[in-house]
Amino acid sequence: MRNTNWLVLALLAVTMTAVAQQSASAPQNPQPVAATQPEQTAAQPTQAQTNLAAPTTMDQVVDRVILREKDLIKFLAQRTPIVETYLQNLTQDPQLGPIPQDDHYFLGRMDLSESIDRSDFLQDKGKDKDEGMEKHLLGGLTKKFKFQYQPLGFSWMIFADRNDFDRQHYDFRYARREFLGDVRCLVFDLTPKKDAGRGRFLGRIWVEDQDFTIVRLNGTYAHPSRNAYYFHMDSWRLNLIPGYWVPAYIYSEEGDFTAGAKNKIAFKAQTRMWGYNLKTSTANDELTSIRVDSVKDDTPTAQDATPLAAEREWQQQAEDNVLERLERAGLLAPEGDVDKILQTVVNNLEITNNIELPRPVRTRVLTTSPLETFSVGNTIVVSRGLIDVLPDEGSLAMVLAHELAHIVLGHNLGSQYAFNDRMLFSDEGTYQNLGFKHIPEEEAAADKKAIEMLKGSPYAQKLETAGLFLKALQARAPQLSALLQAHLGNNIAENGTVTRMAQLATSAPALDWNKLDQIAALPLGGRVKLNPWDDKVEIVKAQPVAITSARDKMPFEVTPFYPRLSRYATASAPAVTTAAAPTTTATTANASPTPAN
Ligand SMILES: [Zn+2]
Repeated sequence: MRNTNWLVLALLAVTMTAVAQQSASAPQNPQPVAATQPEQTAAQPTQAQTNLAAPTTMDQVVDRVILREKDLIKFLAQRTPIVETYLQNLTQDPQLGPIPQDDHYFLGRMDLSESIDRSDFLQDKGKDKDEGMEKHLLGGLTKKFKFQYQPLGFSWMIFADRNDFDRQHYDFRYARREFLGDVRCLVFDLTPKKDAGRGRFLGRIWVEDQDFTIVRLNGTYAHPSRNAYYFHMDSWRLNLIPGYWVPAYIYSEEGDFTAGAKNKIAFKAQTRMWGYNLKTSTANDELTSIRVDSVKDDTPTAQDATPLAAEREWQQQAEDNVLERLERAGLLAPEGDVDKILQTVVNNLEITNNIELPRPVRTRVLTTSPLETFSVGNTIVVSRGLIDVLPDEGSLAMVLAHELAHIVLGHNLGSQYAFNDRMLFSDEGTYQNLGFKHIPEEEAAADKKAIEMLKGSPYAQKLETAGLFLKALQARAPQLSALLQAHLGNNIAENGTVTRMAQLATSAPALDWNKLDQIAALPLGGRVKLNPWDDKVEIVKAQPVAITSARDKMPFEVTPFYPRLSRYATASAPAVTTAAAPTTTATTANASPTPAN
């Protein structure tokens, strides 16, 4: 009885919010225009839909969900976001539980126009070479159990069903109402119809209750064939632009370590998508990228550049060219707040060591997961994944000091990138066309200089955790070769041995996984949040959760995604506090609606 009453309330709420939505889209009350708003033509389908009558039955809600999904597929057809999958195969550790055994990394660009397709940033080499671009035959546990991880497979669940998301192929069963973050959702279980064919979505969808857009999908695909195996996936979308929720994160996990488990495959994988708003045409960008301002002479008596001034300008041009090219490829986040944090640490190192350079040192964030740093001229670049796993400011200072040392020692003099023809390559060719590796002698010299700078800085007392970080990295390095494979800079570890700043590890205390207050390295994804629409990065605001056992530490590990969802317009509004929605007995979407009186 109580359940029935609750359903009445739920339906009332659906009707009311839908009405509110209608009036909000009326001409006298236009939606706020944001800088990131998609072009008018692309936004029109939504505009048309908000004029539809508000659904009053669950049947009508399902119709709306289907319509909204088709609208999203159409909207994204013009987009080619970057898709990154990082996967850790797992092995069972008696003390720590499942830990990484080896890992794999895929970076590509998705083409969502006709079907879901992708092209790769990474050249095939070594063990994967024979399998070509799309198929990577990767080591299983024995020869008998070899598994093919097809990178495309991890991004299937950006949509429930690209081609046939409709009532002819699926049964929709309303389950309950639930809040995901600040967003009230209706939850439906989807099952493919008997004759719907292979590869149909089987699982649960969460639908926000204003426009009835899918915001989360959780499940798998039904009826695997003898040669294909469908992973389980949890797929999240974010409301980053008015009217659309764009696919952002997909977590995949397989494996069971209980006694007698038949399934020998065990892995965890994170798939991230970003770069939705990257411009694909380059012609106009080339014109606007000429930095007119920076060559303007603002001295009282205008004069030509001296040879030295010209040389510095030339260096700056090479640096700017590379940074702009990386940003356009979606590999570098636009300048933002995270840079300010990195910049502060660099400034601390510079001031306390009396370092004065002819051009200022800047910092930027690489959008990818593999742990790497490099510098382009006077700009230090640190990967998102590396910032994620660093335990504290001292270890961040260690990472930045190495690159600052290269700049101070004059190792970054290559100005070949001042010629613009060297920027003319496809985004997917970035790793083949750009590189900022140093010779081993320069690496050793930078380490030496960096340690000298750290010891003369405010971080001198914080180098124990930096050393511990290196020890933790060493403990995992043989299993994490893909995470430690740098694509533009020098590797932090070579052949399973950490080489970067190794001297700091020797003076650090012993690494002890069981010591709960010793946090040597963090899991991936905990610090830096990457906006999939505009590629901006920000520091995650989260209350740390108390660690209760060694298993909670999960250094360098892949964990599930659980973003706090919020609506675009209300993103900056205070969070709505509410109790979790009660679980009710499931009812079918086809049931006639309860009268609302
Ligand atoms: Zn280096």
